[in-house]
Amino acid sequence: MKINCVICGKNNLDKDTIGINKKLLGLDIYNFYCMDCLADYLGCTVDELLDKIEEFKEEGCTLFE
Ligand SMILES: [Zn+2]
Repeated sequence: MKINCVICGKNNLDKDTIGINKKLLGLDIYNFYCMDCLADYLGCTVDELLDKIEEFKEEGCTLFE
């Protein structure tokens, strides 16, 4: 399944990006953001999101498998 960023149209978002969208915005979301737009939307930085992805992976979160 190919998913595009709803804001900038960046296409083919990778699974980490999709996973962090689901983790932070909810599993039932239809609009996905690329890392840049998600950081903007949440008012944080891309680096903070990348840190969170690593944390969730270490916790064994299945969204990132
Ligand atoms: Zn975007």
